[in-house]
Amino acid sequence: MNNQTVIDKGQQYVMNTYGRTPVALVKGRGSRVWDAEGKQYLDFMSGIAVCALGHAHPELTAVLREQGEKLWHCSNIYWNVPQVELAEKLCRATGMDKAFFANSGAEANEGAIKLARKYFRRQGRNRYRIIAFRNSFHGRTTGALALTGQTKYQQGFEPLLPGVDFAEFNNLASVKALITDETCAVMVEPIQGEGGINAADPSFMQGLRDLCTEEGILLILDEVQCGLGRTGKMMGYQQYNIKPDIVTLAKALGGGFPIGALLADSEVAGGFVPGDHASTFGGNPLACAVGLKMMEIIFAPSFLEQVQATGEYLRQKLEGIAGRDGRAVTVKGLGLLLGIEFAAEVKGLVDICLKNGLLLISAGPRVLRLVPPLNITRGEVEEAVGILEQSLQEWDP
Ligand SMILES: *Cc1c(COP(=O)(O)O)cnc(C)c1O
Repeated sequence: MNNQTVIDKGQQYVMNTYGRTPVALVKGRGSRVWDAEGKQYLDFMSGIAVCALGHAHPELTAVLREQGEKLWHCSNIYWNVPQVELAEKLCRATGMDKAFFANSGAEANEGAIKLARKYFRRQGRNRYRIIAFRNSFHGRTTGALALTGQTKYQQGFEPLLPGVDFAEFNNLASVKALITDETCAVMVEPIQGEGGINAADPSFMQGLRDLCTEEGILLILDEVQCGLGRTGKMMGYQQYNIKPDIVTLAKALGGGFPIGALLADSEVAGGFVPGDHASTFGGNPLACAVGLKMMEIIFAPSFLEQVQATGEYLRQKLEGIAGRDGRAVTVKGLGLLLGIEFAAEVKGLVDICLKNGLLLISAGPRVLRLVPPLNITRGEVEEAVGILEQSLQEWDP
């Protein structure tokens, strides 16, 4: 099969929801992937920040095979060992108390919305409104979509979940102005991913924490993209020295195996009692065994130090590029969640990089996003930067 055969069949039988790159990938190893015609690419998008240990990591494939021969699924009617071990690992590492497992980022956020509302309803209080931010991204299910502050994703799906108010990111006064006695929570990404790699200012994050505490409402952090080592800390909020009441995770949690989670403080988690929330597949042994191995590797202090060092190295290289290229505006992000903002739309540049053997994606129209595997080597960083520089020379927006 060549790329075109796969594309033709896909166009005939797969729903047309993505503007897809005309390449069919068939194999991956470490930071490299190959298409159906044997062309090799250096992967600096990691399946959108998912393959945090690259492709076909030997310890992950071993655990998948091992668990695959034991127990795949048994439902949450019973306890299973990998689920409780992953819950313990996540709670101990993050300082949160309880976990709920889902299958995706959007689903983790749905769980957070429901938990926030139920927590207050259980106290007999009618707090149900949630403050979210312009330019945010929380997923495509109808609840998460209602909290996503980008009209292009919402258009045509109205009426959306009611009870959502939008504030301006990095503007604490705009949040304050929206709080009423019906507000139950604020949901925010510490670093907006899809919205353009916009990091929260430390004073804004700390201010939000204080504001939520003063008002008696919940701070929900969506760390689906920025959590789990991506910024060089276990959690993005550790960059800000704060702790949320609820935090949601997904992308890197299974390294490519679908799994999402929400973690909460024990008092808040008490908002859910048996029957309140559920997921057939959520927390199944196969996904959790892989997630546990991912976390064992990523949460090791030496691994996180390495992410910080590689992130710093890549950042310096990108700043060099941005300094030499008049079309670049600025370098954004933290750790290995980085972006270069350009004055023009970057779609053409992404296509040239692909042709030259480097996979990248944008974050919004004008930001080139770099989210390589967290275990990328310096040599691979240099190679990617070389391809990017070459591609910039060919780019004429
Ligand atoms: C990707 C993403 C989501 C949605 O995750 P899915 O697994 O696609 O549902 C939610 N929030 C953030 C911050 C994301 O980056």
